Amino acid sequence: MHVRRLMHNLVRYHMTNPDHEARQMFALGSMGHVAYHLWAEQARREHRFNIARLFDALSAARLARAGDAFRRLGWVRSTGENVAAAFSGAVIGDISADRITGVTPFARELLARAQRAISEGRDLRASELGDLFVCTTCGEICEGKLEGACRRCRTVPEAHKAFRAIEAMGTLGPHAIMAFLEQTEDALRTLVAGLDDDLLSRRLNDATPSLKELIGHLADMDAIFRQRAWLLLETNRPTLPPAHPPTLESAAVYRDQPIDAVLDAYHTTRTQTLNLLRGLTSAAWHREGYHEVYGLVNLLHQANWLISHERAHLVEMAQIRHDLIAADRHSGATTVANIVVTGSNEGE
Ligand SMILES: [Zn+2]
Repeated sequence: MHVRRLMHNLVRYHMTNPDHEARQMFALGSMGHVAYHLWAEQARREHRFNIARLFDALSAARLARAGDAFRRLGWVRSTGENVAAAFSGAVIGDISADRITGVTPFARELLARAQRAISEGRDLRASELGDLFVCTTCGEICEGKLEGACRRCRTVPEAHKAFRAIEAMGTLGPHAIMAFLEQTEDALRTLVAGLDDDLLSRRLNDATPSLKELIGHLADMDAIFRQRAWLLLETNRPTLPPAHPPTLESAAVYRDQPIDAVLDAYHTTRTQTLNLLRGLTSAAWHREGYHEVYGLVNLLHQANWLISHERAHLVEMAQIRHDLIAADRHSGATTVANIVVTGSNEGE
């Protein structure tokens, strides 16, 4: 009885104290936002792209809920006041620990689908997770098609954030795609500059591949992408081969080759890829095919897939170069800054 009365009082306190309720919502929503965001990054690392898309949508929903509470608290004022508030450090006061993720029934339903897929050792298929739309005002999530304003807060469709299957790999358009693909080889040459063959074959530890293996792996992936691009361009609505992309382990052969040979392999495949893509019309970039996991995809989707993969490995390689040089002070090489092109999202 005592506990129940306490709970009752607590609930009444929350209901009659909107500030406390909003502070609670802000704190828990913010934490949920970050948690989902980090889980999305990890899912992407594990190549679970649809589950990553789900986490991204849930993260945006929690951000909207937290933002709504933050505004209700009156904590968004003029920029001058916000700068002053930032200096003094925002204080939210006491909040009680509570669920920060899996809060709504729908979020839990979506997560249950992801759980089933993971228990079968795979990503969610596009057929199991429709396009998701998150209301940026209240965080309501809508699956499939967005029809009309938010059913909860009447926010217009234009103010929703979309997490579409076909954009799950990124939203770079043809111009940004070509710019990225054209400059990777230079980035790779910069990364290996000043390192001898011995260092380039070295594995810093069991879990870290050598730079040669990583460059070889990028060459393998480029070839896979080009096969798929060719199918999309030259055949009608192809089903893309489910053949799993070459793993990093299969790139071990590159470790015994001189760096010039590894770079040549990369140069050859990338040149052919650029020749295939150069001058394509918008219609060509939108040619579609079917992929078992990603559902309906187009050439833009596949190019974004290649770039997101390449970009992640370039970051990894910059770190390896840095660590190799730190471990081997006699190399005389210096670390390089900013070899990785960061997202210039032009939409498309
Ligand atoms: Zn809404």
